[in-house]
Amino acid sequence: LLVFYLLVTYVILQFGWWAYLIYDLNKQILLQKQEIVQLETEHFDAPLLDHGVFTQELDKRFWMVIGEGSIFLLILILGALTIRKTFVKEMALSKMHKNFLLSITHELNSPIASIKLALQTLEKRTLDNEKRNLLVSNALSETSRLASLVDNILLTTKIDDSNFELHTEKIDLSELLQSNLDRSIAPKLSNHHLITKIEKGHFAAVDFLAFASILANLMENAVKYSPEKSTITVSLTSQQNKLIVAVADEGAGISEAEKARIFDKFYRVGNEDTRKTKGTGLGLYITKYLVRAHNGQLIVRDNQPKGTVFEVHINQFQSDATE
Ligand code: ADP
Repeated sequence: LLVFYLLVTYVILQFGWWAYLIYDLNKQILLQKQEIVQLETEHFDAPLLDHGVFTQELDKRFWMVIGEGSIFLLILILGALTIRKTFVKEMALSKMHKNFLLSITHELNSPIASIKLALQTLEKRTLDNEKRNLLVSNALSETSRLASLVDNILLTTKIDDSNFELHTEKIDLSELLQSNLDRSIAPKLSNHHLITKIEKGHFAAVDFLAFASILANLMENAVKYSPEKSTITVSLTSQQNKLIVAVADEGAGISEAEKARIFDKFYRVGNEDTRKTKGTGLGLYITKYLVRAHNGQLIVRDNQPKGTVFEVHINQFQSDATE
């Protein structure tokens, strides 16, 4: 950036210098023209040059240089600002890429190490059934963590290549939410209290798998970023033709400045070296994309007295009332 600022300053100074030179050149041309006219007057008895015409002409050229110069300067400054903006964005992106590589290495290494350890233990020792089952179920849950990580990366590639299609159909969202919570989410929630407030009979045009992924991502974050034994509340309500699915936690919350950035690809709050939670910074990027693909909105706000609420707003199926 320092080199960039130096270059821009140099270009602007050069620009001013050239503007001055052009003005000075014009002045000299006019002076010489005046001398020629004076010589002609002396030798050929031509009419004397009016001094007012000379200053008027010089004034005109001065304002021409100022006018055109200002427009060029403006374009130059706009160009420099655009380059600076792109440059800063590139730097942030490359920092995020570095963060992503660090976190993905962590993310891949830890499940692989625990699966390996579980398999080695199973191979070398004869264990009683209970211990054996525990090792197998741990290895299985690590495998599904790996699979969901790979799924997220694949999904991101599809989204970035505009290669992702939704298959929406009219679905009872109340039922879909409840069954997802009961079957896939609640059994894994050993360290948090789950409260559900799901109004019955709300329909929406939804992609079954995409919606499951939205809920899984929001729930995973609520669990990761709130303390053990705290409460997570999932609700479904309707408001003026909209359905609102809200996931509220009692964690540390997200500052206003970070709220604007957490939906960026690879973005994670804090520093990779000091952060304790696992993640890749892809969850909210994917979630926001999927919600938007449903013509919906993903909103983040503070929970009271503390924590975060993520709200998915989507259109209610119009014939809902008659269902
Ligand atoms: P990941 O969880 O893999 O880091 P996400 O895209 O899901 O990536 O989230 C981006 C960042 O937003 C997280 O790193 C975290 O700092 C912040 N965040 C997301 N959900 C919550 C939450 N419920 N409470 C506090 N911070 C959150």
